[in-house]
Amino acid sequence: LRLDKIHPLINGNKWFKLKHNIEFARRNNLKQLVSFGGAYSNHIYALAAAGKVFGFDTVGFIRGEIVLPLNPVLAFARSQGMKLVAVSRSEYRNKHQQDFIKAIHEQYSNCYILPEGGANDLALQGCAKIVQWLKWHSTAKNRYLAVACGTGSTLAGLIKGISSSAIAPIPELIGIAVLKGQGYLPGEVSRWLQGVTLENPVDWTVMEQYHCGGYAKSSSELHAFLTQFAGFTPIPVEPVYTGKLFYGLFDMIKTGRIPPDSEVIAVHSGGIV
Ligand SMILES: *Cc1c(COP(=O)(O)O)cnc(C)c1O
Repeated sequence: LRLDKIHPLINGNKWFKLKHNIEFARRNNLKQLVSFGGAYSNHIYALAAAGKVFGFDTVGFIRGEIVLPLNPVLAFARSQGMKLVAVSRSEYRNKHQQDFIKAIHEQYSNCYILPEGGANDLALQGCAKIVQWLKWHSTAKNRYLAVACGTGSTLAGLIKGISSSAIAPIPELIGIAVLKGQGYLPGEVSRWLQGVTLENPVDWTVMEQYHCGGYAKSSSELHAFLTQFAGFTPIPVEPVYTGKLFYGLFDMIKTGRIPPDSEVIAVHSGGIV
């Protein structure tokens, strides 16, 4: 499912995460969108573009130093009018604490603060709507719907969306964790789903063995796979999220975790800068 193609600038899952947040800000007359991210954050990129398109001022608190010349993500964000503010790594760790949030509200009047990665309940509701775009082509009994996981909020949204859809047979959802940490992401997804009523039970799994060393890290296996992948499809992937998604899926097919005669939809969550 090519979410990388929905808009030239606000693409992938980040649009679905932002959509309801932007509506909320607009309804409440909030004029500035403020958020957090690393220097290569796709969320910061999409937020900057969305701010420009929908008429909000945007502020990005960037972890660590802002190195000049700006990298392509930050250069783009600034070109869209985003104000970039460097935050030391130690300060950044406290970004979601009350004092820090209070200081932001004092400095930026009428602002709406989005968490890192844009991950909140409105984002989850937006991601639930991705399900409307699925087209299953076969009558295969085994269906899988797969997505790369950072915060896990997109996967949680997909679980919610599938559970209240009329899709049958119900696919198993597979999240491919792009960061290291055993048990961390399943815990996060469960946390996102607390308080969400699932109309139909949905099987979901997070595969935690395809992170290739951790967030934005790579391995020679991943590198070799991506070279091979580029040889048989023009679909662009990047090594941080969607590259690991396909790496994991191909391995699951090879090892039989995904059996023959299954239908798999991989959600291409964007991230091509
Ligand atoms: C942010 C991002 C993700 C991760 O989404 P989460 O909701 O944080 O799990 C996956 N793919 C791409 C391309 C992203 O930019």
